[in-house]
Amino acid sequence: MAWTCSGKNNDELVTNLQNEHIITNERVVAAMRKVDRAHFADFQPYQDSPQSIGHGATISAPHMHGYALEHLEKYLQPGMKALDVGSGSGYLTACMAAMVGENGRVVGIDHIPELVKASQVALDKHYSQWTESGRIKIVLGDGRQGYMPDAPYDCIHVGAAAPKKPEELLSQLKLPGRMFAPVGTSKQRIVVYDKDANGQIVQEKIMGVLYVPLTDPETQRSQ
Ligand code: SAH
Repeated sequence: MAWTCSGKNNDELVTNLQNEHIITNERVVAAMRKVDRAHFADFQPYQDSPQSIGHGATISAPHMHGYALEHLEKYLQPGMKALDVGSGSGYLTACMAAMVGENGRVVGIDHIPELVKASQVALDKHYSQWTESGRIKIVLGDGRQGYMPDAPYDCIHVGAAAPKKPEELLSQLKLPGRMFAPVGTSKQRIVVYDKDANGQIVQEKIMGVLYVPLTDPETQRSQ
């Protein structure tokens, strides 16, 4: 299925994701058309597979980015605030910024200084209006603790697998709010957590996946 979505350029890739019904929401489609993956990945950016970005990290596959944006779309409305944990290349952070618009805000957090720097350089070069206005902020830190200075968030995307239910991150969601996260160790699943207006959390397991773990920098670099 998913590998059939590869394209020769960004538009073709997005059209193929639409044809496979991986992305159907028009705001998600517009964001993925606006943000060119080649700005964030040096190798085979239009291939529908994860690609190494160095330091034990990968830019996730386009179909996974598509699923994530589709699931978070209701919480990426204009003016909303989002957190991207394990922002890596910065690609998905940029897509989220496209969706929340000029009055919204997206914080990307990664624990590898080189990736924070590289993603900041790419964003400054290609999406300077978003970095200059503060619509996007990339910070260095341990994403397992979330990012308190801007909490709470309408939604949180987690780009690396948490070994178990990420309680600290859930506590930084608004009421209501939603989180999309890979969870598990040897067996991982995407879990969508919905926090309602009373703070009640309901979780739904969406699909089996294979993400790099949410860990510490030393462990990640040795993998
Ligand atoms: N979503 C990004 C990166 C996915 S790879 C993209 O598609 O480009 C997972 C990322 O999580 C890596 O960049 C890795 O450095 C980061 N990561 C892993 N553990 C982390 C932690 N504890 N805190 C912050 N970032 C972490």
